[in-house]
Parts: sequence; C-alpha cells; structure tokens
Amino acid sequence: MQGGRNTREAYIVIPNISDEVMRIALRELEQASYHHEQWAENLHGTLVCRAVPDEKDLGPDAHCQCHFGQWYSHTGSIALRNHPGFQEIGIEHERMHRYAAHLLRASRDGGVVARADYERFVGALKRMNLEMANVREELQRALFNLDPLTGVPSRIGMLTALREQQEYVRQNHCCVVAMLDLDHFKSINDNYGHMVGDTVLVEVARWLMGHLRPYDKIYRYGGEEFLICLPGTDMVTGNDILNRFIEGIAGLPFAVEGKDGLRVTASVGLADLGAHLPVERSIEHADRALYLAKGQGRNRVVLWDVAMDELPSERKST
Ligand code: GH3
Ligand code: MG
Ligand code: MG
Repeated sequence: MQGGRNTREAYIVIPNISDEVMRIALRELEQASYHHEQWAENLHGTLVCRAVPDEKDLGPDAHCQCHFGQWYSHTGSIALRNHPGFQEIGIEHERMHRYAAHLLRASRDGGVVARADYERFVGALKRMNLEMANVREELQRALFNLDPLTGVPSRIGMLTALREQQEYVRQNHCCVVAMLDLDHFKSINDNYGHMVGDTVLVEVARWLMGHLRPYDKIYRYGGEEFLICLPGTDMVTGNDILNRFIEGIAGLPFAVEGKDGLRVTASVGLADLGAHLPVERSIEHADRALYLAKGQGRNRVVLWDVAMDELPSERKST
C-alpha cells in the first residue's frame, strides 16, 4: 500500500516564493543530491575494496567537507532554508557522516566492519535520501500545481492548457476530453475507511498516468474525478482508449491488508474539444455524457451527442 509521503499532511504550501526562486532551489537540490550519490558510491567502493579512505571523510567535520555539505552550509536559497525538511536533511547528513567515519576508520585499521555499524550508516543514508525526496516533491508540487494527494496536476492551469490545445483543434487537429469518475466511491470510504479511499485514488491516478501518452494531459478535476485530454485523438479512438482505461482500472488489485478483493470501477463521459466553443462547454459535454454513463449502470464510456443537450442534467461536477 502507498506510504505516508503522499498524504495531505505531508504537503506544505511554500508561500510567497516566486516560481523562479523555486525552480533554482529545485535545480540546486538535484545537483546536491547528485554529488551526495557520488560520495555514497565512493564510500561503498572504499569499504568494499578496502582502499585508503579520504582524510576528509574521517574527521568530525566530514559533513562540512563533502560537496553536499559545502553546498548545504552555503546555499542562500530561502525556498530551502525556510523548509523544515531542510533542517532534517542536515541532521541526517551529519549523522550519516559520523557513522561513515566510524566505518572507514575500522576498515583503514584493518578491523572488521561490524554489521550493526553498517546498518546504522545505511539507515541514516536512507533517511537523508527520503527527506531530500520529500522536499524535492514538495517543491515540484508547488511549482507545477500538482495535487498533493495523487501527484496529478490540479485543475489550476487546466483551462489555459485546454485553450492552448484548442488552437491546434482550430488547425484541424482533433482532440477529445474525458471526464472519468470512480463509481460508488463513497461506499469505499464507508466500508474501508477514508485512508483506504485515499490509497485507491492514488493508485488509480498512478495507473492512469502510467498509461497516458507523453503528450496527453490529466488533471484531478475534483474528489474522485479526473479530466483527461487526449490530443490528436478522435471520438472513435478516444472511445477505445477510455474503454481500455476502465478495464484496466476495474482489474487493478488493491493490496489492502486483510481486505483482498477490493475493486473499483470508473465511468467516463467523452466529448470532442470543440474548435469554436468555450472549453468549459466541452467539459460540460463530457460531464453530461458521464452523467448518462452513471445512469446506464456505470463502468462504461458514454460519448457525448448533440441530442444530450436536450436532456436534463442533475449531475454536479466533482
Ligand atoms: P457515483 O458512482 O455516482 O460517482 O458515486 P460516488 O459514491 O462515487 O459519488 P459521490 O459524489 O456520492 O461521492 C464521492 C465521494 O468521494 C464522496 C467523498 O467523500 C469522496 N472523496 C472525494 N475526495 C476524496 C479524497 O480525496 N479521498 C477520499 N478518501 N475520498 C474522497
Ligand atoms: Mg463517483
Ligand atoms: Mg464524483
């Protein structure tokens, strides 16, 4: 099952920091992380080959001497300095170096490296990497408006992206939008609890992201509802693709402890992204078709048709 890092609580909005500053912070962190990985690889090589350790790795200030440590103590990035995870990274980094120095000294002096000491070191290394991944994910979410639970883009920016796509439609490229909503999702929450519901959402979102083409787009439109945009796709192909998606979702195994057999299905409304309609109208079309898919028994794809404009729609988005 999904670990805790994708939960809402882990998400901290980084306020009042421009995208540019965040982008620089992300780049810095990625570079520092690369240096740190190089250092860790070297350390393993030194231990395994019993090579002569670097003096810098033996002293009490080893954590300030490595590339990563130098960056850590000197970075001026406020996006990172103000982040609580950043302090944690520093703590684990220092601890990891202390343990590493101990291992290196034992190896240099010809002694045996005790397994417990090695595990202590690996534990600190893992925690540090986890903290770094956490901070990196948060920066990415804040920068790209990713939904904190599922990692899918939130609907901020969705309309702009659809309008951009509409420009291509005007040049005779087809495009469809699909509104995909999980069936009876409330009963999953009711029967298994909200945490399990969250996990199901995360896994469905992951599966969908893993099956989209690189130029397709997906947004978390609302609670258990996703808007998918398929450029260069007409209704016939869109129908095939979305039918494959709902089959895939229906077949997803959710490894909920002690609750084997949990399954979820999805319903989809599909519509063309109209060349000369406001994009909101095309979304409404998909939503109306989704409403019919629900009425027809769920776990199906319904294509929008102009006759549907005559039908009453009671379904509320999201
Ligand atoms: P239908 O087949 O008609 O779509 O039924 P439904 O139960 O899926 O639809 P309904 O709109 O009645 O309920 C949606 C539920 O989704 C209610 C809400 O509690 C749940 N939900 C929305 N967002 C989240 C979320 O982030 N996590 C969890 N666990 N549940 C969520
Ligand atoms: Mg639903
Ligand atoms: Mg819904």
